[in-house]
Amino acid sequence: MSRLEELRAGLEAVEQRIVTACSAADRRREDVTLIVVTKTYPASDVELLHQLGVRDVGENRHPEAGRKRTELGDVGTDLRWHFVGGLQSNKAHQVAGYADLVHSVDRSSLIGKLGSGARSTEREIGCFVQVNLEGGDPAAGGRAGCSADQVPALADEIAGTDGLRLSGVMTVAPLDADPVVAFAELRALSADLVGKHPTATAISAGMSDDLEAAVAAGATHVRIGRSVLGERTSLR
Ligand SMILES: *Cc1c(COP(=O)(O)O)cnc(C)c1O
Repeated sequence: MSRLEELRAGLEAVEQRIVTACSAADRRREDVTLIVVTKTYPASDVELLHQLGVRDVGENRHPEAGRKRTELGDVGTDLRWHFVGGLQSNKAHQVAGYADLVHSVDRSSLIGKLGSGARSTEREIGCFVQVNLEGGDPAAGGRAGCSADQVPALADEIAGTDGLRLSGVMTVAPLDADPVVAFAELRALSADLVGKHPTATAISAGMSDDLEAAVAAGATHVRIGRSVLGERTSLR
């Protein structure tokens, strides 16, 4: 099988899973955006995915993400680039120069830098507040993300920053717990957020192993890597 055919088969399988999950949840397919997470895969794969109709791609590392976008030229410009990885403050300004949406905003120190980066390229960047719903301390090796009680303040700060648009909330399901519980919590946080910021309706949740649970819990953006592209050879 050519790489194009492999990717076509992976995309079709994931598309079928999303369609089935939407129908089980009585939701419309068009209300769920598939982001294909292309981290660790070459720009040539991103180009093939574009040929297959993909328009939303996810990356988690700077400067790898920016390099791919540049390398792809017009194809790169035609895609929406979602930055889904942990972000160091000193790289936020640069990431804002090429990312269209950033899913990993989990602390105040990132917000000003993302805003200045967006303004310097005269763009508006969509931001998700990433929340950690396993209660672990990120510094102790748990997942990135703010605590649930920090979401409102970070959301207000994003909404008040020129160059940034508040999109909604994001989580990565805990490794050793039932994702259904975390996704239900995320949905509740989203409902609170939308009460104050009516346009911030996006919910970014769901990866290869838990996309059905995420769609059932109202996810509007699922981030899928392995199920489309195959197992990554490096651990990230
Ligand atoms: C890698 C990654 C994904 C995709 O994970 P898969 O298990 O390959 O589907 C989604 N979200 C984030 C934040 C990631 O880092």
